Amino acid sequence: MPVKTVTVRVPAKVNLQLSVGPREADGFHNLVTVFQAISIFDEVTITLAQPNSGISISISGDHTHGVPADDRNLAVKATELIAKEYDLDIDVHIDIKKSIPVACGMAGGSADAAATIVAIDYLFSLGMNREEMSEIAAQLGSDVPFMLSGGTAIGTGHGEQLTPALSRGTYHWVLALSSVGLTTPAVYAECDRLRAELEITEPQTHEVLMQALLAADPKTVGASLTNDLQAAACSLRPALRLVLDVGQEYGALGALVSGSGPTVAFLVADEEAGLDLAVALTASGVVGSVARAYGPVGGAKVLT
Ligand code: ATP
Repeated sequence: MPVKTVTVRVPAKVNLQLSVGPREADGFHNLVTVFQAISIFDEVTITLAQPNSGISISISGDHTHGVPADDRNLAVKATELIAKEYDLDIDVHIDIKKSIPVACGMAGGSADAAATIVAIDYLFSLGMNREEMSEIAAQLGSDVPFMLSGGTAIGTGHGEQLTPALSRGTYHWVLALSSVGLTTPAVYAECDRLRAELEITEPQTHEVLMQALLAADPKTVGASLTNDLQAAACSLRPALRLVLDVGQEYGALGALVSGSGPTVAFLVADEEAGLDLAVALTASGVVGSVARAYGPVGGAKVLT
């Protein structure tokens, strides 16, 4: 019997390195980034619907605020793009169970787009290979190709050109979440403003970080975390500096604003240290809420 419904689980990400090159003529920036997929997951369930009923969508779960339940949703855009590229009539209902905080620099929308590609491929037996999926993914957003593969990878271009990174060991994270997000374009605009008088060179991979990942050395990974958007995120949201300070004070191996923020990600030595830091951050009163996660984990995957 043909399959009528499928659920795909997809992780969030943190950036261990986010180096931003000069603003190009098209307004974009060349990046060198190191992504790590972490264990906070959305679930995208796609179910076949009546012929000619089109694409409908519902959002459930812990983080629904700010997620569009219409054709602005990246999961709908992904479905429409595949329908166009593969010349298909696609009538489906999409339900997104959201656990990835929204507009928090953890690529939740990109994750849902990646999950949708995997789900539609499965449901319609398209037999897409990884390259074909990545091509569709890159048209939907720079972070979408990484959410297909997960693990640890270096992203160049706008982040969509991926090279797998050799990484050993498991890394434990505490995430300080904010109830109000920051929009990615606003953070890049602030970054450009803050760097207006500076000479910005083309970004490079940080070799110390790559060697530390290879050696499963969380202490050096913690000391090597960098994000060129951090100053801009802190400029727009000065309270983030307090959050960064509290985490460092309570023994985090390293801390940085994740992507365009406002999530602050703390790398800790192990699960126990994570629990201690989560308690300290909650007690400090400077964070909205706290989550714990580990990485790397795999990318978008059909749940059987
Ligand atoms: P980026 O990928 O640029 O780092 P982000 O992780 O900070 O983004 P997202 O959670 O992806 O932020 O949400 C950014 C915006 O994308 C939301 O405010 C929302 O308007 C829109 N959006 C579209 N589709 C989705 C989706 N499936 N889930 C969450 N947001 C979505």
